Amino acid sequence: MTGSRAGAIARAQREYDDGVFVDRLAKLVAVPTESHPPEHKADLERYCHAVLGPMVRELGFETVVLDNPEPIHGPVLVATRIEDPALPTVLFYGHGDVVRAMPERWRTGLDPWTLKIEGDRIYGRGTVDNKGQHLLGIDAMGAVMAERGGRLGFNTKIMVETGEEAGSPGLLEFVRRHKDLLAADVFIALDGPRVSRTVPDVTLGTRGGIAMDIVVDLREGGHHSGHWGGLLKDAGVILSHAIASIISRDGRILVPGWTPKNVPDSVTRAARAVQAEVLPGAPVPEPDWGEPGLNNAERIYAWSSAIVLASISGQPESPVNAVGGKARARIQLRHTVDVKAEDVVPALEAHLAAQGFDEVKVVPVTERDAFQASRTDPDDPWVKAVVSSFAETSGGAPNIIPNIGASGPSEYFRQTLGTPVIWIPHSYGGCGQHGPDEHGLGTLFRDGLGLMAGLWWDIGEKGRPA
Ligand SMILES: [Zn+2]
Repeated sequence: MTGSRAGAIARAQREYDDGVFVDRLAKLVAVPTESHPPEHKADLERYCHAVLGPMVRELGFETVVLDNPEPIHGPVLVATRIEDPALPTVLFYGHGDVVRAMPERWRTGLDPWTLKIEGDRIYGRGTVDNKGQHLLGIDAMGAVMAERGGRLGFNTKIMVETGEEAGSPGLLEFVRRHKDLLAADVFIALDGPRVSRTVPDVTLGTRGGIAMDIVVDLREGGHHSGHWGGLLKDAGVILSHAIASIISRDGRILVPGWTPKNVPDSVTRAARAVQAEVLPGAPVPEPDWGEPGLNNAERIYAWSSAIVLASISGQPESPVNAVGGKARARIQLRHTVDVKAEDVVPALEAHLAAQGFDEVKVVPVTERDAFQASRTDPDDPWVKAVVSSFAETSGGAPNIIPNIGASGPSEYFRQTLGTPVIWIPHSYGGCGQHGPDEHGLGTLFRDGLGLMAGLWWDIGEKGRPA
C-alpha cells in the first residue's frame, strides 16, 4: 500500500497553496450558469460537457450528460468511476447553476464571473454556492488517488445538476428515473454555510416547509364603520384572534400536532452540542421567544417554527372607514420529520374548529414536489464514520446538525435511493450567497480540502462502516 492519510491531506492542501484549486475554480466561475430564468441553458450544457466534465474525466470518471425530465431546464452531469463492484459506492452531489448574478449590485472592482482574491476572500458568483464546494470534493478525490497510486479505494458517482437555484425542477423524477445509475451506499454533498468557521459541520437533513392561507370571508364589500361598526363581525379582528390562537404572544406554537411528540435522544444530544458562531451584524436570537426549555440549536434543528408570512384586511395603502368582510394571512410551518407533513393542515382545521373559529377556512398553498422534512439518524454508521474522520483530521468533534432549519432535496435521495444523506458545508454565514459579493474563504477551502481528503482516504481504507 502506497502513501498515507497525512500524505493525502498534505497533497490536497498543497493544491490550494500552489494556486491550482483557485485556477480551476476560476474556470468554473467564468461560465455564467444562471438557472433562473432558463435563458442560460447553453451555458449550463457547456458547464457539464466542456468545463466540469473534462475535469472529472481526467480523474478516470466516465461521464454522461442527461436531460432534465423538464426539458426547459438545464441537464445533469453524471460521472461514474467503479474500481470494484464489491467496494462501497459514494454518491457525490453538487449543483453547477447559480442564482442571478446581479452585477450592478456588486462592489466596484468586483465582477460575478471573474474570480478575485482579496486577503482570505475569494469573490465570484458560485464560489461557495456551489461550484467551489463540489470542486473541493472532486479535487480531494484527486489528491487521494495520487497518494494511493491511482486508486480511491471505493466507487464514486458524481451527480451535478443545473437547476437547484430554480428549485430543482425535475430532480425527484430524475432520481427516480435513474435510480440504478445513481445507486450507492451513501450520499455525500458539500453545500451551504457552516455554523462556525472554527468547527466543521456534518448536516443530516432539512426541515420541511408548508404554507397555508387562513381566510376569513364574511361578506362582499365594506360597510360604513359609523353605522355598522359594533353590529357586524370584523374580518380583521377575527383573523387576528385566529392567528393568536395558533402562535402565542411569546412565539410558542399552540396547534396540537404541529410540534414533535417525541424528539429522538440522538437528535437532542446532537443539537445541544452544536457550537455556533455569532456573526457580527446578524440578529441575536431572542431568549423569550419560541418554545421554552429549548436552547437556540434545539429550536431550529429539533423543533417546529410557525411564522406569519403576510396578513391583510381592508386596504392598508388607503384605509377606508368601513367594516371589512374579508381578511387573510399566510402562515408557514417549518417542521422536522417528527411531524408528518400530511397531518399539518388537518391539525390546523381541527384546532380552529375546537377554538370556535367557524368563519376561518384553511387553504393549503400547493407546491409541486415540495421539499419534505428529512433526517438521517445521527447514530447512523456512515455518520459516525464521517464524524470520526473529521475528528481525526481537525483534532476535535465536528458539529452534528440533525437537520438544517431550512428546506432542501435531501428526502428525494434518502427515500428514492435508500441511502443515508450527509451534507458537509465549507462556507460561512457571511459569504453573501444569493446576494452581491458572494465569496468563499481561502482558509475554509484549504481546511475543507484536508477534511475531504482525510474522509475519502478513510472510506477507501475502512470500507463500509459496520
Ligand atoms: Zn443557493
